[in-house]
Amino acid sequence: MNNDQLTAEERLSRQKHGLAKVVKHAYNNSPFYRRLFDAAGLHPETVATPESFHKLPFTTKNDLRGAYPYGMAAVPLDDIVRIHASSGTTGKPIVAGYTRSDLDYWAQSVTRICEMAGVTKKDIAQISFGYGLFTGGFGLHYGLERLGATVVPFSSGNTERQLSLMKDFKTTVLVSTPSFAIYMAETARDLGYDPLSFGLKIGMFGGEPCSDAMREEIEKQWGLKVTSNYGLTEVVGPGISGECGQRTGMHILDDLYYHEIINPQTGEVLPRGEAGELVLTPLFKEGFPVLRYRTGDITRIVPEPCPCGRTTPLMDYITGRSDDMIIIKGVNIFPSQIEEVLAAFREVSPHYQLVLLKDKGFIKDLEVQVELAQEGFTDRYKELELLGNRIRQRLRSTLSMSPRLKLMEPKSLERTTGKAKRIVEMEVPDLEK
Ligand code: ADP
Ligand code: ZN
Repeated sequence: MNNDQLTAEERLSRQKHGLAKVVKHAYNNSPFYRRLFDAAGLHPETVATPESFHKLPFTTKNDLRGAYPYGMAAVPLDDIVRIHASSGTTGKPIVAGYTRSDLDYWAQSVTRICEMAGVTKKDIAQISFGYGLFTGGFGLHYGLERLGATVVPFSSGNTERQLSLMKDFKTTVLVSTPSFAIYMAETARDLGYDPLSFGLKIGMFGGEPCSDAMREEIEKQWGLKVTSNYGLTEVVGPGISGECGQRTGMHILDDLYYHEIINPQTGEVLPRGEAGELVLTPLFKEGFPVLRYRTGDITRIVPEPCPCGRTTPLMDYITGRSDDMIIIKGVNIFPSQIEEVLAAFREVSPHYQLVLLKDKGFIKDLEVQVELAQEGFTDRYKELELLGNRIRQRLRSTLSMSPRLKLMEPKSLERTTGKAKRIVEMEVPDLEK
């Protein structure tokens, strides 16, 4: 039976089975969930069905931080065979522990995502995600290996060597963040290679949003097909949803990961099709189970079925994490909105950064820094001024506020081999003067 083509009844029956199992497991074995159930006056039987599951309180990032390092464990630590952790740029890292069975569950999920992206055992897949506590490298590694593809575990960094091996090994699949794929193309050209000559066929990109404009840019530069895939450490890592090649969104493996979309303000479960925060429950995780985990990622379920014939629901591309939302002068802004505006201008490159200008810790203004696409542009003062005005105008009408804009020399912003850091902060005490 192909799990990507289950009927609605088959899918529901698997979800019921999974929910009953994971809820009981968490209640019986995780002190964290035992406390949470008891405090809410709930018992596994009263919340273990899709109809009643919404009664259970959410689990949040703060809960997991508070449980650092092993407070989420629901098995003896002897049975944990692997630890991963998210980068924890804000506060303590979030730890995830895997049993042997969890690793198998994870690898199975990733294998399905890779198959959907069109990868086969004939492919040579270079993994440029970091290997380490980050789930990206190891996650894709075991899934691709299980599929039978030839895995090149390069890890992140060392871009020049990475490119030269990619050429020699005749790599066909590149696994990385979208921003690293852009950076690699730029480096290839600097080294005198034509990226199109590498023969890459498929890009499996994840870890951060990839706007339509960024996707087109990568496809044009490398001549490959871009596919996005999604996941997060707290739930399992990559392998939760991925694209099939139809550009319709990312298929969620919903026989393995139960999903809900909620109103982030009220917590109410939203009807199918409405945009809100994605809440996930991995149905077969033993080590560090999580129930109703608030991902912070905003998306919606695409109501139309996918022409590919898979019946797994599609989630729309993620525009940004709720953590990345900037509030300036009372206006909510996602970096992706700015990226879309910038992408419409041929004169600027895909490299940009948003600088939060702060005074005594308070955000006072936003500066959009974007690199010019062409060397020497900055000498042509009049043209530069006109371009700046056109971009400012578009930013103003899209964002309903006017950020500052700085046009930078090509290659002046820092490049990344992992997830792009789009937002930085700067203390500027005399801003208004
Ligand atoms: P860290 O928190 O250290 O960045 P994770 O890899 O766990 O580590 O990050 C997961 C987050 O990355 C997700 O919650 C989501 O915000 C983002 N992400 C992952 N894949 C995608 C994707 N395909 N599109 C957009 N955002 C993504
Ligand atoms: Zn599809």
